[in-house]
Amino acid sequence: MSSSPSPSSDVPAVGQRLRAELAAATEHYNQLKQDHEELLVDPAVIQEDRDASAQVLAAARIAMETAAAAVARWEDGTYGRCEVCGSEIPAERLEAFPEASRCMACST
Ligand SMILES: [Zn+2]
Repeated sequence: MSSSPSPSSDVPAVGQRLRAELAAATEHYNQLKQDHEELLVDPAVIQEDRDASAQVLAAARIAMETAAAAVARWEDGTYGRCEVCGSEIPAERLEAFPEASRCMACST
């Protein structure tokens, strides 16, 4: 465990990381959406595979929206604060899960 890191040096890196994750999540979603649309028009594809693809697409969409919400919180200055109880989300939690919008106690 290192002692308290200097926030001033970490701050731009966090914003960049969040934006990079949003860009990656958006690209991933767009790719899956394209694949899914191809499945929908392919008569050889069974419904089960379409349903599975729709679920994957829905999960990717949630990941993209979660990343977008994190960037929005970053930009309006509420990033790192629990949206439920308002307390600071521990740095270790943000490190492991940068899109976290709730502290451990409120996330369950
Ligand atoms: Zn909380």
